Amino acid sequence: MNTEYDVIIVGGGIVGLATALKLTRMHPNKKILVLEKEKEVAAHQTSHNSGVIHSGIYYKPGSYKAKNCVAGRRELVQFAKDHKIQHDICGKIIVATHESELAHMNKVYNNGVANGVEDLEIIDAKRIKEIEPYCEGISGIWVGCTGIIDYGDVARKYAELIKACNNGSDVLTSQKVIGFEKEGEKTKVITESNQFISKYIISTAGLQADRVTKKEGTKTDAAIVGFRGDYYDLTEKGLKKVKNLIYPVPNPKFPFLGVHYTRMIKGGTECGPNAVFVFDREGYSKTAFSLKDTADAFGYTGTWKFFSKHWKFGLDEYRGAFSKAYFLKRLQKLIPSLEKDDIIPARCGIRAMALGPDGEMLDDFKIEKQGNALHVINSPSPAATASLAYGNEIALQATEYFKLK
Ligand SMILES: Cc1cc2nc3c(=O)[nH]c(=O)nc-3n(C[C@H](O)[C@H](O)[C@H](O)COP(=O)(O)OP(=O)(O)OC[C@H]3O[C@@H](n4cnc5c(N)ncnc54)[C@H](O)[C@@H]3O)c2cc1C
Repeated sequence: MNTEYDVIIVGGGIVGLATALKLTRMHPNKKILVLEKEKEVAAHQTSHNSGVIHSGIYYKPGSYKAKNCVAGRRELVQFAKDHKIQHDICGKIIVATHESELAHMNKVYNNGVANGVEDLEIIDAKRIKEIEPYCEGISGIWVGCTGIIDYGDVARKYAELIKACNNGSDVLTSQKVIGFEKEGEKTKVITESNQFISKYIISTAGLQADRVTKKEGTKTDAAIVGFRGDYYDLTEKGLKKVKNLIYPVPNPKFPFLGVHYTRMIKGGTECGPNAVFVFDREGYSKTAFSLKDTADAFGYTGTWKFFSKHWKFGLDEYRGAFSKAYFLKRLQKLIPSLEKDDIIPARCGIRAMALGPDGEMLDDFKIEKQGNALHVINSPSPAATASLAYGNEIALQATEYFKLK
């Protein structure tokens, strides 16, 4: 096994793999290694998301999210076509059910126009029913360029292409990075079973981003907290009530899109996710608990400030997590005829959200650089959609910061 590399990337989710792929394309002479702690790549957020190819409509014009989502979506769809990855540009509707939501719905539409999102249209109640016969709304937005895909498939294809470079670049799994040691201008990267040397380090560790960053020796004042998103599946009986994707108008106070209906590319339709603060960053059950994760979360002032600002939202989400009737009520906002036996509890995903010391969630992508390292601290949704554009951005920043030739 090779042990010396030009760049080591810690974290084999979709962002780390896209970054590695872009770096190998920009610098075919450089040896890039991705180290992933799990047995397979993409084991966490990348394979536990809604599988939506987002359009770019939601994001503040000029933000990293806006720029990278629109460009990344177009590149992703082309990539999926080129590599025969199953996907479907089926479009979606965002539906207002109350007059109080119209102002924000129009803002979302205007953001979409400003961000250059194609195939957008304001639609009335009649058109909503033509598109989704069981959905009740007073007005909505048709977003024709939204699609669905399996991001695990995409990430595995990125890994395959990195390995196929044949220049010594590689992706290794079951390699949990547990330490870094400086050796002159280089860094020794220590995993549970190996040691590797690299000139430069990039980390894209998702739910562990703050820990890997600090372990490497780079300062950050942000901390990662996890928000679990529970999903229900539509049953055989419920399936006929949703054709494709139906979203509510999001609550502008939170970076979550609200519980929605999503047809999945590999079959079935999911409803969710909610957003419940978790006590175990990688614990995929409602009662999972990690002492370390809990102690870290509550030892950080930002968490307490976040709770004091958003306790009502938090309680509401907990209620939704433990009460099917309450979850159903939220879903009935968009489809009033949805019944209890139309849904059954399904899987969940956990989002990594970076909190600042002021208790505010960081809404956009965030990168920290120090010494010979660059760390991605925050890569929230739509980072899967935007992965190729975002990977390109990280690779460009790395090229400039590390002076890669
Ligand atoms: C419920 C949910 C719904 C979402 N829906 C969508 C959607 O529909 N569309 C969309 O575009 N985005 C969506 N997202 C967001 C998207 O999934 C994430 O933004 C994206 O997957 C982030 O990718 P990542 O590579 O940064 O993180 P991850 O996929 O979490 O990858 C990080 C990797 O780092 C590894 N790692 C951590 N520590 C170490 C270590 N010490 N050593 C080695 N490896 C390590 C982890 O094992 C992991 O594989 C959703 C997310 C969630 C959770």
